[in-house]
Amino acid sequence: MHNKSVAELSRELESGKISSVELTREFLDRIKAEDSQYNSFITVTEEQAMADAKAADEKRAAGKAEVWTGVPFAHKDIFCTNGATTTAGSKMLANFVPPYDATVTANFRAAGAVCLGKTNMDEFAMGSSNESSFFGPVTNPWGLSNGEKRVPGGSSGGSAAAIAARLTPAATATDTGGSIRQPAALCGITGLKPTYGRVSRFGMIAFASSLDQGGTMARTAEDNALMLNVMAGFDPKDSTSADRAVPDYTATLNEPLKGLRVGLPKEYFSDQLSPAMEQQVRNAVKEYEKLGATVKEVSLPHAKLAIAAYYVIAPAEASANLSRFDGVRYGYRCDDPRDLSDLYTRTRAEGFGGEVKRRILVGTYALSAGYFDAYYLKAQKVRRLIQQDFINAFKDVDVLMSPVSPSPAFVQGEKTNDPVTMYLEDIFTIAVNLAGVPAMSVPAGFVDGLPVGLQVIGNYFEEARLLNVAHQFQQVTDWHQKLPQ
Ligand code: GLN
Repeated sequence: MHNKSVAELSRELESGKISSVELTREFLDRIKAEDSQYNSFITVTEEQAMADAKAADEKRAAGKAEVWTGVPFAHKDIFCTNGATTTAGSKMLANFVPPYDATVTANFRAAGAVCLGKTNMDEFAMGSSNESSFFGPVTNPWGLSNGEKRVPGGSSGGSAAAIAARLTPAATATDTGGSIRQPAALCGITGLKPTYGRVSRFGMIAFASSLDQGGTMARTAEDNALMLNVMAGFDPKDSTSADRAVPDYTATLNEPLKGLRVGLPKEYFSDQLSPAMEQQVRNAVKEYEKLGATVKEVSLPHAKLAIAAYYVIAPAEASANLSRFDGVRYGYRCDDPRDLSDLYTRTRAEGFGGEVKRRILVGTYALSAGYFDAYYLKAQKVRRLIQQDFINAFKDVDVLMSPVSPSPAFVQGEKTNDPVTMYLEDIFTIAVNLAGVPAMSVPAGFVDGLPVGLQVIGNYFEEARLLNVAHQFQQVTDWHQKLPQ
């Protein structure tokens, strides 16, 4: 059963071929047997999962089952789960048991889905390789059979690796600068970052609030649609949540793509991209031409400024968001503080890892008197220009297509000593977050035996179109079905 999609598992449960208790047991056993190789879970909530599975079977027996009833999945450890530890990959929150559910968590509970546990991630979602987690790095299932320890990407690397390793059919994730799309690409699975405001941020531990967006990861576009059906919607508890109707994202998956207008941003086919990677992306675009799409070159003239703007704005917001971790109310507290100042200083010095401290320093600097105008204000102006680039591009085309990452999964440790090289992993994904538009990563081939993703970017609130575009590709290709050895 563990090779099946969410849609297939839902049908198996409906037909009575298997119970949720049996299915949940199968995934829990796989996690127990296999996850020591990957470290994709921080917490496995076995007892709760088995209880939820039992409840789901009873609901089904009573004739009240829906699509997700009894289907297992996992949460990125950034979504608060009432009663289950939620760490954000940090020592600071290693002992934090939230007294409430994130809205996304509550939605999956209401849908009757069975949460297997909480997946590993870069500390506070800062990173592109899942090496900054307090709970140790995650290893990508791809490459492992050759004895290579490659990164799964980040920050949602635990979710992506767990899906690729068939330890869960689906997992939630978040994307502030690429954290859904890049790990999805590096692990050969399908991921969607929705429009900013489409999925509630309530109870999702904040990194950079104007950029953070919860989203979906699974093997197929159809499963991403099933997830988004549960996750999307207005939430009065999130002040930037979008108050607009949510379509059934599965309803339009089968629309033909004839006449689809595809734009290729020329700035995303640059020197940063190896010829082998570029070839895979161009092959995927050719597949779309066969499906009836027309393709033209477009320009995002300010895209080259995205990394620079992001690494001012995101750290600035992070420095403010992370000021709440002071050892007073919850989370890590240093031993024997001498006085209040010692409590704050040592708690934060001991509780945060290196990358998080770097972001706090950069962000505080960018916001400080005398530098605010030169850095933060300037970056906000650049952000507006980047947004305008996308608005202009979507006057002529329906979707944009590009690579997700400049290279496939790299070897652990390769980029840890050079933060700027690590930041450049997101060169093709970050502008999307600054603009707030939705985008997907879809498996589109291999380079050196490692998966490559195609990025499909849509106009605001056009998630249904993206899912349709990805689903049609998956009807004529089988990259998303390939298994790591
Ligand atoms: N890699 C980027 C960063 O480190 C993006 C992370 C994310 O999307 N959460 O900030």
